Amino acid sequence: MFAINHAASALLFKKHLKNNELPFIWILIGVQFIELLWVTLNLVGVEKTTTENVVHYVGDIHLAYMPYSHSIISSLIIAFAAGIFTFINKKKMRLTVIITLVFLTHIILDIVTHNHDVPYTFSDKTHLGLSLYQNYPLIAFMLEITFGLFCWWYYEGNLKLLVTILLFNLANLSLFFPGIPGPEALLAHRPKLITLVILFQILITMYLVWKFSKTRSVHENFVHARV
Ligand SMILES: [Zn+2]
Repeated sequence: MFAINHAASALLFKKHLKNNELPFIWILIGVQFIELLWVTLNLVGVEKTTTENVVHYVGDIHLAYMPYSHSIISSLIIAFAAGIFTFINKKKMRLTVIITLVFLTHIILDIVTHNHDVPYTFSDKTHLGLSLYQNYPLIAFMLEITFGLFCWWYYEGNLKLLVTILLFNLANLSLFFPGIPGPEALLAHRPKLITLVILFQILITMYLVWKFSKTRSVHENFVHARV
């Protein structure tokens, strides 16, 4: 899933945080933790990304080797480690469950959208992924934007948050459809550039969702003001 919608998924959890229980930035880092790990491991050359000779859309970019950041087993280890860390520090079972789910969300969303590139273990040759990006890009695009909007609606977000989620999804349009030219053409055989573009998307969407989720919808503020 693309960075904006991973960031939006944090809103599902923010709604259930009680006041001062945990800064929201930790939830945003949690839903993107394995992507940040993927960026780091790609930049140092441990995990690998390849492309077709010409990149027309996201299906031409292959996350060829990412067993440490994006395998099922690594995601489970990281999620349960985060849960145990939370329980030791906060002693709250409800918060422990929330944090475990925060860290698990990423791989679940990736399996739904990714090409066949999510391994089960560190050395597995079989991979998971419904390959919506490669085979059904229109469905992938509609699913991504609908999920982002659902997170906004569930959180009862304000107008700025809605515009952010919509614009970042629309900005990805050419990545979903080979017939629509876009800047992705510059990414052929440039795995480090791909990694840096994704890092930029992670950081900017994380910041904007953090900033614009500080207040919720006008309707909710109005209701609160009356109560
Ligand atoms: Zn991912």
